[in-house]
Amino acid sequence: MKKTTRGMDIIIVGGGLVGGLAACALAKRGHRVRVYEYRSDIRIKEARGQSIDLSLSYRGRQALKLIDLEDKIVNHHGISMRGRMLHGKDGSLKEMIYDSVKKNTLYSVSRLYMNQVLLDAADEYPSVTLFFNHKLLEADLDNGKLKFSKTNTQEVIEVEADLIIGADGAHSTVRKMMLKRPGFDFSQTYIEHGYVELNIPPRMIDEKNPERGHEFCMSSNHLHIWPRGTFMMIAMPNDDHSFTGNIFAPLDILNGLDTPKKVIDFFTEQFPDVVPLIGSHQTLVDNFFMVKPKSLISIKCNPYHMGKSIILGDAAHAMVPFYAQGMNAAFEDVVILNELMDLYNEDMSKVLPAFSKKRCADAHAICDLAMYNYIEMRELVLKKSFLMRRTIDTFLHWMCPDNWLPLYNSIHFSRMGFRDCVKNRAWQDKILQRCMWFLFTAIALGILFTSLNTAYWHRA
Ligand code: FAD
Repeated sequence: MKKTTRGMDIIIVGGGLVGGLAACALAKRGHRVRVYEYRSDIRIKEARGQSIDLSLSYRGRQALKLIDLEDKIVNHHGISMRGRMLHGKDGSLKEMIYDSVKKNTLYSVSRLYMNQVLLDAADEYPSVTLFFNHKLLEADLDNGKLKFSKTNTQEVIEVEADLIIGADGAHSTVRKMMLKRPGFDFSQTYIEHGYVELNIPPRMIDEKNPERGHEFCMSSNHLHIWPRGTFMMIAMPNDDHSFTGNIFAPLDILNGLDTPKKVIDFFTEQFPDVVPLIGSHQTLVDNFFMVKPKSLISIKCNPYHMGKSIILGDAAHAMVPFYAQGMNAAFEDVVILNELMDLYNEDMSKVLPAFSKKRCADAHAICDLAMYNYIEMRELVLKKSFLMRRTIDTFLHWMCPDNWLPLYNSIHFSRMGFRDCVKNRAWQDKILQRCMWFLFTAIALGILFTSLNTAYWHRA
């Protein structure tokens, strides 16, 4: 790809979260941007898409800051979650603060709201044009040519760009075009677990006086988790005082719940405190059967660029949602692209390879960590060894806030490369193991010394 000066013609495929954000960031840099989105305009027609709310953390916030939307989305809309609230089967509650030292929190934000705000912001740039109901059919990545079909009329149009950005999600068509080319590695994994979304409605403040309005039925400042070993349920607060719950479990279990009785028995046994919050048994059953259990996919590929194109977000690295980093990492892609465009003065022949070099291994690392965090959330949080390690981490973080950053904090509250987060954790493990070794050795030597001393004095 030749060196391109400012003012490229850029086509973004996909007007989801990353497409909207990238359009704003690139228009802000002075480029002309066209966004082609398969769906109709979500700002006009509300569609119930996947997962209603998303957890936003530092990486995502930095990206919103880049396009001057952090304040609007976080402070005026986000609901701060300061930690996990673990729900036992017996109804007991245990709080686990995310960051008791620096008081960082995650924010629950509506996916629809955020996508609408991003599209509105993109629309405000005169150099951005949004096209809805356009489905990418194929692309010539070397020559920057794309073929779309208008989903309303089936008319096929051909367009050209200096740069193609594939922000078309986990089942990306731009990525499919890359797959045909030599030198493009790709793997996808469907995990055995899937999920079903459940709505937990707001509670009336005063049953006798409905005019007093509604409130949250649980603490709104937590990510609620019901860890049950091989499966779990989570719930995040929405700004209408409801919660969106998700039950994640092996698809065998979810598909096996195929009658109302089985659903009610399962919830009554596993999540007894949730049933009254959802409402009646009938509401639970209606909720559960509204949509079939959905599957979860993890995608890795390398590189992220080919010819005049690049893929960002889920198109490049869809991950299971257990570290709540899919969108955050996807947003960070845009920040990194922006930084590299600064560094190489918009020379895309340097920017694109540099992006793949910097990002692929980091994205693979967070895909793996996301798999690990499912085990942490559903199982490890119940184990004493995990809780002890967490306490040590929190203590050391408090003692040396800049030198001892626990893994979770480095992922959510910093922009440390994901590989470095993993390396940092491995280093911490080593230090702790050595400390334990020294401690045990000191204790053993102490006991030995005391015994020898006692024996000596007895003899004397
Ligand atoms: P998408 O949001 O999928 O957008 C892709 C867009 O491209 C869509 O609008 C689509 O219509 C369009 N498109 C697709 N094909 C074409 C085509 N051929 N032509 C034109 N347009 C096309 N992440 C977090 O950070 N925090 C969370 O708490 C979190 N929770 C999650 C919970 C669940 C249950 C799931 C499944 C995911 C969660 N994620 C979370 C991940 C997050 O949803 C994704 O990482 C994020 O949506 C990726 O954004 P994207 O723009 O890359 O893809």
